[in-house]
Amino acid sequence: MSPEEILAHAQRRIDDLAPAHYIGGRFVPSTGSATIEVINPGNEKRLGVASNGTAADVDAAVAAARAALPGWARLTPAGRAELLFRFADAIDDSADLAALEALNVGKSYAYAAYEIPFISDCFRFMAGAARTAQTPAPGQYAEGRLSYIRREPVGVVGAITPWNFPLLMAAWKIAPALAAGNTVVLKPSELTPLSTLILADLSRGILPDGVLNVVVGEGATVGEAMSRHEGIDMMALTGSVASGRLVAEGAATTIKRVHLELGGKAPVVVFPDADFDELVQTLVTVGYGNAGQDCGAATRVICHEDVRDRLLEALVTAAGQLRSGDAASGEEFELGPLISAAQRDRVAGMVDRARKDGARVVLGGEIPDGPGFFYPATILADVVSGSEMAREEVFGPVISVETFTTDAEALAKANDVEYGLAASVWTRDQARALRFTEDLNFGSVWVGTHLNFVSEMPWAGFGKSGYGRDNSTYALDDYSRTKHVMLPLGAPLDA
Ligand code: NAD
Repeated sequence: MSPEEILAHAQRRIDDLAPAHYIGGRFVPSTGSATIEVINPGNEKRLGVASNGTAADVDAAVAAARAALPGWARLTPAGRAELLFRFADAIDDSADLAALEALNVGKSYAYAAYEIPFISDCFRFMAGAARTAQTPAPGQYAEGRLSYIRREPVGVVGAITPWNFPLLMAAWKIAPALAAGNTVVLKPSELTPLSTLILADLSRGILPDGVLNVVVGEGATVGEAMSRHEGIDMMALTGSVASGRLVAEGAATTIKRVHLELGGKAPVVVFPDADFDELVQTLVTVGYGNAGQDCGAATRVICHEDVRDRLLEALVTAAGQLRSGDAASGEEFELGPLISAAQRDRVAGMVDRARKDGARVVLGGEIPDGPGFFYPATILADVVSGSEMAREEVFGPVISVETFTTDAEALAKANDVEYGLAASVWTRDQARALRFTEDLNFGSVWVGTHLNFVSEMPWAGFGKSGYGRDNSTYALDDYSRTKHVMLPLGAPLDA
C-alpha cells in the first residue's frame, strides 16, 4: 500500500471506532456524554472524536484491571513473555499505528513508521528481561533462618502519557509494567488518543481481558481520578513538570508509588575538534525532529567561541533545507507542525522574549500563514546564558546557541538548568569527554551523538526531570516490589 492508502485505511478505522474507552478487553462507551474533537495539526481538520472520560470510567477500568491482576501476576514470566512477544508482532504488523501517529501528532508517515520497531523492541526486551530477575543471594542471615526475596508486581499501575510520542511513551510504561506482572490503566493525552486506542485493540485476543485498559480524557478529570484512586497502586507519568507535581500530590493521598518522566533542556556542548558533519546532521535530526517536541531534543547548543560562526553557518544551511508538510498528504517532509495553536503560540512567545533578552534570530522566528500549526526551523544566536531561552524547555523547532571559552565555563552553563534529563558533548578529546560525562548533571550523557536510545539502558532524569526509569531492567525494578521471606531452617542434621 502507498502512504496515501495506509493513511486512508487508518482514517477509516478511526471513523469506525465510536468514542469509547477500552476496558476489560472491549470498547465501551463513556458513562458521560462529553467528547473531544481530535484534529490533525497539519491541516486543522477533524480526525475523529474521542470520549472525554469520567471518574466513573476510571472506576470501571480499575475494576477490570484488579479483576485481571491475580491471573496475570500468577503466570510465569515465560508465560507473560510469550504473550508480550505476540503483542510485539502485532505492533510490527500494523500499518494503522504509524499512520494514526503521523496524522494525529503531525509527523510524517516515514518518521512515525521509523518509531514502530523501537516500540515493539521495548515489549520484546521487557518480555525477555523479566525472566532474569536479580536479587541478593538467598541465605542464612539470621541464625537458623533462611531468607530470600520474592519479586512481585506492585499491582494496578495507572499510566499517563503525553502527546509528542503517544505510542512510544505508552510502550515505555505498558511493557515493563505488564512484564513485571502488573495490570495497567492508561490515559493517553486528550490531544492524541487515537493510536493508543488502536494499540489496545491490537492487544485484544492476545492479552487476557482487563490486563490493559485505556481511558481517554483530560488530565484534570481522568488523570486526577487515577492519581487519587484507592484501587491504583502506582502512578507513572510522562509529561510536564506541572502535571508531574499534580500526579505526585494526588498519589500522596493514598501513598502510591510514583514514577515521573518530566521535561528536559538538553545541552549540546561543542568543542572546536568536534566532528562537524556529524554534529550538524544530528542537530537537524534530533533538534528539529518531531518539530522539536521532544524532552531530550538537541536544541540548546553551548559552543566554543572559536567555532560559533562556522557552526551557525552550517546549521543555517542545513536547517534551511528542511521541508514542512502535512501528514495527510502522504508526502515526505522533515518538519511537521506543532501539536496545537496554543503550543505554537507558546513557542513564538518564547522566541520573542529571547529577542528582547538580546538573542539574534539567524533563521526563522515568524509564524507562517496558512492552515496547520506550523513554526519554522529557527536558530537563535547570542542567547544570553541564564535567560528564559537558555533555561526553559521550548518544545518547538528552535535551536539556541550560547558560547564559552573555557571548559569550566562550558560545564557551568550546561549544568545551569533545573532539568537533568539528557546532554551531549562533542569533542574528539577522550579525556575531556570523560571529564564532562562525570560532571554533567543529566541522566543520559552522550559523546558524539545525541538522543540515541537503546532498550537495555535506562532513560531517566535528575532534578525537575523526575525520578522514574524507563527502559532497561531498572524499569522492571521500578514496576515491581520486593518481599523478604524468612523460613525456619530447622535443626542442623549433623547436630
Ligand atoms: P502535559 O503534562 O501537559 O500532559 C501529559 C499528560 O498528563 C497528558 O495525558 C495530560 O492529560 C496529563 N495531565 C495533565 N494534567 C494532569 C493532572 N492534573 N493529573 C493527571 N494527569 C494530568 O505534557 P504534554 O504537553 O502532553 O507533553 C509535553 C511534556 O512532556 C514536556 O514537558 C516534555 O518534556 C515531557 N516529556 C517528557 C518525556 C521524558 O521521557 N522525560 C518524554 C516525552 C515528553
